[in-house]
Amino acid sequence: MNIGFIGLGIMGSPMAANLLKAGHVVTGYDVSAERIDQLVAAGGKGASGVVDAVAGAEVVITMLPDSPQVEEVAPLVVEYGRPNLLYIDMSTIKPETSRRVATQAAAAGVRALDAPVSGGERGAIEGTLSIMVGGEPDDVEAARPVLWSLGTTVVHVGPAGAGQTVKAANQLVVGGIYGLVSEAIVLLEASGVDPVAGLDVLAGGLAGSRILELKRHTMVKREFAPGFRIDLHHKDMGIAVAAAREAGLSLPLTGQVAQLVAAARAQGHGSLDHSALLKVVERLNT
Ligand code: NAD
Repeated sequence: MNIGFIGLGIMGSPMAANLLKAGHVVTGYDVSAERIDQLVAAGGKGASGVVDAVAGAEVVITMLPDSPQVEEVAPLVVEYGRPNLLYIDMSTIKPETSRRVATQAAAAGVRALDAPVSGGERGAIEGTLSIMVGGEPDDVEAARPVLWSLGTTVVHVGPAGAGQTVKAANQLVVGGIYGLVSEAIVLLEASGVDPVAGLDVLAGGLAGSRILELKRHTMVKREFAPGFRIDLHHKDMGIAVAAAREAGLSLPLTGQVAQLVAAARAQGHGSLDHSALLKVVERLNT
Protein backbone atom coordinates (compact mmCIF):
# COMPACT_ATOMS: atom_id res chain seq x y z
CA MET A 1 0.00 0.00 0.00
CA ASN A 2 0.99 3.62 -0.42
CA ILE A 3 1.09 5.06 3.08
CA GLY A 4 1.59 8.71 4.05
CA PHE A 5 3.10 8.98 7.54
CA ILE A 6 3.13 12.30 9.41
CA GLY A 7 5.01 12.70 12.70
CA LEU A 8 8.26 10.70 12.69
CA GLY A 9 9.27 11.11 16.34
CA ILE A 10 10.23 8.56 19.00
CA MET A 11 7.20 6.42 18.08
CA GLY A 12 6.46 7.40 14.48
CA SER A 13 9.97 6.75 13.20
CA PRO A 14 10.16 3.04 14.17
CA MET A 15 6.48 2.53 13.23
CA ALA A 16 7.17 3.87 9.72
CA ALA A 17 10.23 1.59 9.55
CA ASN A 18 8.04 -1.42 10.37
CA LEU A 19 5.60 -0.47 7.61
CA LEU A 20 8.54 -0.39 5.18
CA LYS A 21 9.66 -3.83 6.40
CA ALA A 22 6.11 -5.12 5.79
CA GLY A 23 6.48 -4.10 2.13
CA HIS A 24 4.50 -0.86 2.09
CA VAL A 25 5.62 2.30 0.30
CA VAL A 26 5.93 4.96 3.00
CA THR A 27 6.12 8.69 2.29
CA GLY A 28 6.86 10.56 5.50
CA TYR A 29 6.75 14.11 6.74
CA ASP A 30 7.89 15.73 9.98
CA VAL A 31 8.61 19.36 10.83
CA SER A 32 12.12 18.12 11.68
CA ALA A 33 14.16 17.54 8.49
CA GLU A 34 16.47 15.20 10.43
CA ARG A 35 13.52 12.87 11.09
CA ILE A 36 12.65 12.78 7.38
CA ASP A 37 16.30 11.93 6.54
CA GLN A 38 16.08 8.96 8.94
CA LEU A 39 13.03 7.63 7.08
CA VAL A 40 14.75 8.04 3.71
CA ALA A 41 17.82 6.18 5.07
CA ALA A 42 15.47 3.34 6.11
CA GLY A 43 14.09 3.08 2.55
CA GLY A 44 11.13 5.48 2.71
CA LYS A 45 10.36 8.60 0.70
CA GLY A 46 10.60 12.11 2.11
CA ALA A 47 7.72 14.57 1.63
CA SER A 48 8.01 18.36 1.48
CA GLY A 49 4.88 18.88 3.58
CA VAL A 50 1.61 17.34 4.76
CA VAL A 51 -0.08 17.78 1.36
CA ASP A 52 2.86 16.07 -0.39
CA ALA A 53 2.73 13.14 2.08
CA VAL A 54 -1.01 12.73 1.54
CA ALA A 55 -0.94 12.94 -2.28
CA GLY A 56 -1.59 9.50 -3.79
CA ALA A 57 -1.75 7.75 -0.41
CA GLU A 58 -4.29 4.97 0.17
CA VAL A 59 -3.69 5.21 3.92
CA VAL A 60 -2.49 8.20 5.96
CA ILE A 61 -1.19 7.77 9.51
CA THR A 62 -0.50 10.63 11.91
CA MET A 63 1.63 10.18 15.06
CA LEU A 64 1.75 13.70 16.50
CA PRO A 65 2.31 14.98 20.04
CA ASP A 66 -1.10 16.38 21.01
CA SER A 67 -4.55 17.62 19.95
CA PRO A 68 -3.41 21.02 18.55
CA GLN A 69 -1.02 19.36 16.08
CA VAL A 70 -3.73 16.91 14.96
CA GLU A 71 -6.18 19.84 14.61
CA GLU A 72 -3.61 21.54 12.35
CA VAL A 73 -2.76 18.51 10.19
CA ALA A 74 -6.10 16.61 9.97
CA PRO A 75 -7.95 19.24 7.88
CA LEU A 76 -5.17 19.03 5.25
CA VAL A 77 -5.37 15.23 5.23
CA VAL A 78 -9.14 15.42 4.77
CA GLU A 79 -8.96 18.14 2.09
CA TYR A 80 -6.14 16.67 0.00
CA GLY A 81 -6.71 12.95 0.63
CA ARG A 82 -8.12 10.89 -2.22
CA PRO A 83 -11.77 9.77 -1.99
CA ASN A 84 -12.30 6.87 0.43
CA LEU A 85 -8.86 7.48 2.00
CA LEU A 86 -8.29 5.62 5.25
CA TYR A 87 -6.97 8.14 7.79
CA ILE A 88 -5.62 6.57 11.00
CA ASP A 89 -4.63 8.98 13.76
CA MET A 90 -2.44 7.07 16.22
CA SER A 91 -1.53 10.08 18.42
CA THR A 92 -2.87 10.27 21.98
CA ILE A 93 -5.32 13.18 21.97
CA LYS A 94 -8.63 14.27 23.48
CA PRO A 95 -11.56 11.95 22.59
CA GLU A 96 -13.66 14.93 21.49
CA THR A 97 -10.97 15.98 19.00
CA SER A 98 -11.04 12.48 17.49
CA ARG A 99 -14.82 12.60 17.25
CA ARG A 100 -14.68 16.00 15.52
CA VAL A 101 -12.03 14.80 13.06
CA ALA A 102 -14.13 11.71 12.27
CA THR A 103 -17.22 13.82 11.59
CA GLN A 104 -15.32 16.24 9.32
CA ALA A 105 -13.64 13.35 7.53
CA ALA A 106 -16.92 11.52 6.92
CA ALA A 107 -18.43 14.67 5.40
CA ALA A 108 -15.53 14.69 2.89
CA GLY A 109 -15.69 10.95 2.09
CA VAL A 110 -12.59 10.10 4.15
CA ARG A 111 -12.71 7.15 6.59
CA ALA A 112 -11.13 8.22 9.88
CA LEU A 113 -10.09 6.06 12.83
CA ASP A 114 -8.56 6.94 16.19
CA ALA A 115 -6.00 4.27 17.01
CA PRO A 116 -3.74 5.30 19.91
CA VAL A 117 -1.13 2.84 21.07
CA SER A 118 0.49 1.45 24.19
CA GLY A 119 3.80 -0.36 24.47
CA GLY A 120 6.28 2.49 24.37
CA GLU A 121 9.29 2.99 22.15
CA ARG A 122 10.28 -0.66 22.57
CA GLY A 123 6.84 -1.79 21.36
CA ALA A 124 7.10 0.59 18.39
CA ILE A 125 10.54 -0.77 17.43
CA GLU A 126 9.58 -4.42 17.86
CA GLY A 127 6.15 -4.04 16.24
CA THR A 128 4.44 -5.28 19.39
CA LEU A 129 2.22 -2.30 20.15
CA SER A 130 -1.19 -2.66 21.72
CA ILE A 131 -3.59 -0.68 19.52
CA MET A 132 -7.04 0.50 20.64
CA VAL A 133 -9.21 1.47 17.70
CA GLY A 134 -12.28 3.68 17.59
CA GLY A 135 -14.40 4.02 14.45
CA GLU A 136 -16.77 2.26 12.05
CA PRO A 137 -16.43 -1.56 11.98
CA ASP A 138 -15.83 -1.76 8.19
CA ASP A 139 -13.09 0.86 8.37
CA VAL A 140 -11.40 -0.96 11.25
CA GLU A 141 -11.43 -4.16 9.17
CA ALA A 142 -9.88 -2.28 6.24
CA ALA A 143 -7.14 -0.95 8.53
CA ARG A 144 -6.26 -4.32 10.10
CA PRO A 145 -3.49 -5.32 7.64
CA VAL A 146 -1.68 -2.04 8.32
CA LEU A 147 -2.25 -2.10 12.07
CA TRP A 148 -1.01 -5.70 12.35
CA SER A 149 2.34 -4.53 10.90
CA LEU A 150 2.66 -2.27 13.96
CA GLY A 151 1.20 -4.24 16.83
CA THR A 152 0.37 -7.64 18.24
CA THR A 153 -2.86 -6.57 19.97
CA VAL A 154 -5.39 -4.73 17.81
CA VAL A 155 -8.84 -4.27 19.36
CA HIS A 156 -11.85 -2.39 18.01
CA VAL A 157 -13.14 -0.79 21.20
CA GLY A 158 -16.09 1.26 19.91
CA PRO A 159 -17.11 4.28 17.80
CA ALA A 160 -14.97 7.35 17.03
CA GLY A 161 -13.21 8.60 20.17
CA ALA A 162 -13.48 5.28 22.02
CA GLY A 163 -9.85 4.45 21.26
CA GLN A 164 -8.81 7.66 23.01
CA THR A 165 -10.98 6.90 26.06
CA VAL A 166 -9.32 3.49 26.39
CA LYS A 167 -5.92 5.16 26.04
CA ALA A 168 -6.82 7.59 28.87
CA ALA A 169 -7.65 4.56 31.05
CA ASN A 170 -4.33 3.00 30.03
CA GLN A 171 -2.37 6.10 30.98
CA LEU A 172 -3.92 6.46 34.42
CA VAL A 173 -2.99 2.82 35.14
CA VAL A 174 0.57 3.29 33.80
CA GLY A 175 1.07 6.49 35.82
CA GLY A 176 -0.28 4.85 38.96
CA ILE A 177 2.05 1.87 38.63
CA TYR A 178 5.08 4.13 38.09
CA GLY A 179 4.10 6.08 41.21
CA LEU A 180 3.83 2.92 43.31
CA VAL A 181 7.04 1.36 41.95
CA SER A 182 8.77 4.65 42.83
CA GLU A 183 7.41 4.44 46.39
CA ALA A 184 8.56 0.80 46.63
CA ILE A 185 12.11 1.76 45.56
CA VAL A 186 12.27 4.62 48.07
CA LEU A 187 11.00 2.32 50.85
CA LEU A 188 13.44 -0.49 50.02
CA GLU A 189 16.45 1.83 49.82
CA ALA A 190 15.58 3.76 52.99
CA SER A 191 15.20 0.45 54.83
CA GLY A 192 18.62 -0.82 53.73
CA VAL A 193 17.21 -3.50 51.42
CA ASP A 194 18.82 -4.02 48.00
CA PRO A 195 16.19 -2.59 45.60
CA VAL A 196 17.36 -4.81 42.72
CA ALA A 197 16.76 -7.99 44.74
CA GLY A 198 13.51 -6.62 46.16
CA LEU A 199 12.07 -5.63 42.79
CA ASP A 200 13.14 -8.95 41.25
CA VAL A 201 10.84 -10.66 43.75
CA LEU A 202 7.99 -8.20 43.10
CA ALA A 203 8.35 -8.73 39.35
CA GLY A 204 7.87 -12.49 39.75
CA GLY A 205 4.80 -12.30 41.99
CA LEU A 206 1.31 -10.82 41.94
CA ALA A 207 2.79 -7.31 41.89
CA GLY A 208 4.54 -8.15 38.61
CA SER A 209 3.81 -5.91 35.63
CA ARG A 210 5.25 -4.98 32.25
CA ILE A 211 6.58 -1.79 33.88
CA LEU A 212 8.49 -3.77 36.52
CA GLU A 213 9.71 -6.14 33.81
CA LEU A 214 11.03 -3.41 31.49
CA LYS A 215 11.90 -0.51 33.77
CA ARG A 216 12.94 -1.67 37.23
CA HIS A 217 16.67 -1.81 36.43
CA THR A 218 16.85 1.62 34.77
CA MET A 219 14.77 3.15 37.57
CA VAL A 220 17.10 1.81 40.27
CA LYS A 221 20.07 3.13 38.24
CA ARG A 222 18.30 6.50 37.81
CA GLU A 223 18.49 6.31 34.00
CA PHE A 224 15.67 8.45 32.72
CA ALA A 225 16.34 8.98 29.00
CA PRO A 226 12.97 8.95 27.15
CA GLY A 227 11.06 6.72 26.15
CA PHE A 228 7.89 8.50 26.98
CA ARG A 229 8.38 12.05 28.16
CA ILE A 230 6.87 13.40 31.39
CA ASP A 231 5.48 16.29 29.28
CA LEU A 232 3.44 13.82 27.21
CA HIS A 233 2.24 11.92 30.28
CA HIS A 234 1.18 15.26 31.83
CA LYS A 235 -0.89 15.85 28.69
CA ASP A 236 -2.40 12.35 29.03
CA MET A 237 -3.29 12.79 32.71
CA GLY A 238 -5.08 16.02 31.71
CA ILE A 239 -7.09 13.99 29.18
CA ALA A 240 -7.90 11.34 31.82
CA VAL A 241 -8.99 13.90 34.43
CA ALA A 242 -11.12 15.74 31.85
CA ALA A 243 -12.72 12.45 30.69
CA ALA A 244 -13.60 11.62 34.31
CA ARG A 245 -15.10 15.06 34.79
CA GLU A 246 -17.11 14.80 31.59
CA ALA A 247 -18.46 11.42 32.72
CA GLY A 248 -19.35 12.87 36.16
CA LEU A 249 -16.93 10.54 37.95
CA SER A 250 -14.64 10.81 40.95
CA LEU A 251 -11.31 9.05 40.31
CA PRO A 252 -9.21 10.04 43.33
CA LEU A 253 -6.11 7.99 42.53
CA THR A 254 -6.06 9.40 39.00
CA GLY A 255 -6.12 12.88 40.57
CA GLN A 256 -3.15 12.04 42.79
CA VAL A 257 -1.15 10.61 39.92
CA ALA A 258 -1.94 13.66 37.78
CA GLN A 259 -0.55 15.87 40.56
CA LEU A 260 2.65 13.80 40.86
CA VAL A 261 3.22 14.03 37.12
CA ALA A 262 2.52 17.78 37.26
CA ALA A 263 5.11 18.06 40.06
CA ALA A 264 7.69 16.22 37.97
CA ARG A 265 7.13 18.74 35.21
CA ALA A 266 7.19 21.71 37.58
CA GLN A 267 10.51 20.46 38.96
CA GLY A 268 11.99 20.63 35.47
CA HIS A 269 11.81 16.96 34.49
CA GLY A 270 9.38 17.35 31.57
CA SER A 271 11.80 16.00 28.98
CA LEU A 272 12.77 12.93 31.04
CA ASP A 273 11.12 9.52 30.79
CA HIS A 274 7.92 9.12 32.85
CA SER A 275 9.77 6.68 35.12
CA ALA A 276 11.36 9.88 36.48
CA LEU A 277 8.28 10.07 38.71
CA LEU A 278 10.78 8.46 41.10
CA LYS A 279 12.52 11.84 41.38
CA VAL A 280 9.33 13.41 42.75
CA VAL A 281 8.79 10.66 45.32
CA GLU A 282 12.45 10.97 46.38
CA ARG A 283 12.12 14.73 46.71
CA LEU A 284 9.09 14.25 49.00
CA ASN A 285 11.35 12.25 51.28
CA THR A 286 14.60 14.21 51.36
P1 NAD B 1 7.67 12.92 19.67
O1 NAD B 1 7.61 14.31 20.17
O2 NAD B 1 8.95 12.15 19.74
O3 NAD B 1 7.19 12.86 18.12
C1 NAD B 1 6.25 13.71 17.56
C2 NAD B 1 6.79 14.14 16.20
O4 NAD B 1 5.82 14.96 15.55
C3 NAD B 1 8.08 14.99 16.31
O5 NAD B 1 9.10 14.40 15.52
C4 NAD B 1 7.64 16.36 15.80
O6 NAD B 1 8.69 17.04 15.10
C5 NAD B 1 6.50 16.00 14.88
N1 NAD B 1 5.56 17.08 14.65
C6 NAD B 1 5.03 17.97 15.54
N2 NAD B 1 4.16 18.79 14.93
C7 NAD B 1 4.14 18.43 13.62
C8 NAD B 1 3.44 18.90 12.48
N3 NAD B 1 2.57 19.92 12.58
N4 NAD B 1 3.66 18.30 11.29
C9 NAD B 1 4.54 17.26 11.19
N5 NAD B 1 5.23 16.78 12.22
C10 NAD B 1 5.03 17.34 13.42
O7 NAD B 1 6.51 12.14 20.41
P2 NAD B 1 6.29 10.54 20.53
O8 NAD B 1 6.88 10.08 21.81
O9 NAD B 1 6.65 9.89 19.24
O10 NAD B 1 4.70 10.51 20.73
C11 NAD B 1 3.77 10.72 19.65
C12 NAD B 1 2.38 10.41 20.16
O11 NAD B 1 2.34 9.04 20.61
C13 NAD B 1 1.97 11.27 21.37
O12 NAD B 1 0.60 11.59 21.27
C14 NAD B 1 2.24 10.35 22.55
O13 NAD B 1 1.42 10.69 23.67
C15 NAD B 1 1.92 9.00 21.97
N6 NAD B 1 2.60 7.85 22.59
C16 NAD B 1 3.94 7.89 22.89
C17 NAD B 1 4.56 6.79 23.48
C18 NAD B 1 6.03 6.80 23.84
O14 NAD B 1 6.47 5.89 24.57
N7 NAD B 1 6.83 7.75 23.38
C19 NAD B 1 3.81 5.64 23.76
C20 NAD B 1 2.47 5.61 23.41
C21 NAD B 1 1.87 6.72 22.83
